[in-house]
Amino acid sequence: MKHKFLVVLMAIATAFCMAFSVTACGEKSDETGNNPPITDPSGNQGEQGEQGSTPAPHVHSFGEWKVTKEATCKKTGIKERSCACGEKETEALPLVGHDFENMTCKVCGTKASLGLEYTLINEDKEYEVSGLGDCKDTDLIITNNYDGKPVTSIGRRAFAECSGLTSITIPDSVTSIGSNAFYGCNGLTAVTIPKNVTEIGDRSFYACENLTTVNWNAKNCKEVYSLSLEPGLFNKTKLQKVTFGEGILSIPGHMFYGCTELTDLVLPETLTSIGEYVFGGTDYFGEKRRER
Ligand SMILES: [Zn+2]
Ligand SMILES: [Zn+2]
Repeated sequence: MKHKFLVVLMAIATAFCMAFSVTACGEKSDETGNNPPITDPSGNQGEQGEQGSTPAPHVHSFGEWKVTKEATCKKTGIKERSCACGEKETEALPLVGHDFENMTCKVCGTKASLGLEYTLINEDKEYEVSGLGDCKDTDLIITNNYDGKPVTSIGRRAFAECSGLTSITIPDSVTSIGSNAFYGCNGLTAVTIPKNVTEIGDRSFYACENLTTVNWNAKNCKEVYSLSLEPGLFNKTKLQKVTFGEGILSIPGHMFYGCTELTDLVLPETLTSIGEYVFGGTDYFGEKRRER
């Protein structure tokens, strides 16, 4: 038993010495900056040259994301990127808005609200939804195009005090929401702000008294502020929970002004700028508020 132990010990010692000699050899070649000359009876220098240098472990280097399946209003899409070694990464793409043709979504058949008022804007190249008109819908679904032109804006006070509205669907084509656009829409409990909105007027959802939840997907949105006495996009609401979509870069001024009931808020990590007085009129300050 004792003898066997000694043999094992000797083997370990030998292995250690061999390892040390390899290291020493490596150090020497580093010092000179040249590989020591190799003499190999087989004349196979190429393979011998590799000996003693451990190849660096492979670190994946992924290329650009490529969309392999477009998202629709019904199904999430897929994007994929790959490394030269063949390793692939995939990520889901979120749902996109409906794509209407003759007021019917080409993908899922959802019907856009009829009878709304539209006004030509931007040198008559685009439309703004400017009012409820004859529309009797309680679930308002705004089309992304009207009369062959994109619908890019929701006008000032367009749906102000339309308390019969219980839900609104704003298309991805919209880049601007006017001030007081949904002022006093008491029937709304949740709203989703689409990704391409870059301008939102002050008090756009002011006094929507039952609004508790906002899904904010607008990546880079600024407030258009007109010196209101009572500012705040969601002031005088019951806003508690805000969920941010992917890649949010900025949040507009006065966004949470007066939102005294906010309890569930995690600001996105991608933020690079926030507007003025975002938390004005609230006692919200991060962690303390979240613990409640
Ligand atoms: Zn790889
Ligand atoms: Zn659809």
